[in-house]
Amino acid sequence: MRKNIVAGNWKMNMDYEQGLSLFSEIVNMVKDEVRGEQEVVVCSPYIHLPALAKLSAGVTNVSIGSQNCHQAASGAYTGEISASQVKSTGATYIILGHSERRAYFGETDELLAAKVDAALGQQLKPIFCIGETKEEREAGDFFNLLKGQLNKGLFHLNEEQFRNVVIAYEPVWAIGTGLTASPEQAQEVHAFIRKTLAEQYGEAVANDTTILYGGSANPSNAESLFSQPDIDGGLIGGASLKSRDFLQIINVFN
Ligand code: 13P
Repeated sequence: MRKNIVAGNWKMNMDYEQGLSLFSEIVNMVKDEVRGEQEVVVCSPYIHLPALAKLSAGVTNVSIGSQNCHQAASGAYTGEISASQVKSTGATYIILGHSERRAYFGETDELLAAKVDAALGQQLKPIFCIGETKEEREAGDFFNLLKGQLNKGLFHLNEEQFRNVVIAYEPVWAIGTGLTASPEQAQEVHAFIRKTLAEQYGEAVANDTTILYGGSANPSNAESLFSQPDIDGGLIGGASLKSRDFLQIINVFN
């Protein structure tokens, strides 16, 4: 059966000390209050990762991840970080294909496919983001666009490789806007994603794949979203920066 995951994406927030103190609070709260089988993932800026790995050592339901990597193994790429460098911090997850990277850093589906390969080559589990903009939704056939993002970014993987991938559906119009997709809107897309995965990899793989929702998820709407049959958790931006809010979202699965 597939795993429920609540992942935080800190984006470019938290200086070094702030990040350590937020993460310590999260780990302590998870130890004290989380009783379910859900996995908690914190995707911080690179600078925090080695220290977060130490703080969460031995806490089996808390993992850490990065928000990006470079696709090359190593070399003359000033300012970049490779998948093996991410792996060496103790991270086990990696967000790839976030709409902010697609929009502001020109990351194409083809580049993302190469980053997915680099991550999987280091046994990092991609949290692969897809989503449509407001204009794309209003134009109609955004399901095809989402299918294209899956197809170009992921469907070159074989079944064994794909089983390490988590999908995050993040409608771009809902990110950081306070406009959440309704549970019905999100469920409709998640069911479509699962159907698309079933066509590519078969029902068993599709049923085992964790599909997260992201976009203005918060303690008030998380329960109605996560209770949908094809929504297996969330990728949380703003609300993951407040330990109490993040914990309330995590505890929807308790
Ligand atoms: P918000 O939760 O702040 O809308 O961000 C969602 C997101 O982009 C997570 O990756």
